[in-house]
Amino acid sequence: MKAKFICDRMLGKLATWLRISGYDTLYAGDLNVENEDSYMVHNHKDRILLTKDRELYRRAISAGREAYLIKSNSVEGQMKEVMALGVKFEPVMRRCSVCNTLLRKASIEEAKEVIEREKLGSDILERYELWYCEKCRKLYWMGSHWRNMLRFLKESGIKK
Ligand SMILES: [Zn+2]
Repeated sequence: MKAKFICDRMLGKLATWLRISGYDTLYAGDLNVENEDSYMVHNHKDRILLTKDRELYRRAISAGREAYLIKSNSVEGQMKEVMALGVKFEPVMRRCSVCNTLLRKASIEEAKEVIEREKLGSDILERYELWYCEKCRKLYWMGSHWRNMLRFLKESGIKK
């Protein structure tokens, strides 16, 4: 089974990249709980807590949960740190990068609705396979954004 993660508020970009690569990842900024740090220490113990906060890291470890202290300030550096945990960064059409929901193929009706609402070029309907997030009502496809992600991975030396 693939590792699952929960990221603190400092690691929003890293959380997005983990989702893009198919990893089930919660982000502190989406939790909407009273005391975020305590919540992250004591809940979702099936997930590895990724944090930049030394104090939160210490609390997590002493509470017996799996946690990893991220040191780098750049997303490239952070990605390289979690690669040491066995994470592989590679875009896959599996999860919504915004909300972590599993994607599925879009129906024609759904695709047309999003294209209309977001004023996307209708050519994406013919040119690409389209995936859909039911929660965000958002479309995903392997277009220029996808190619830019691949280029970023290559240029940053994350993926050969
Ligand atoms: Zn979503």
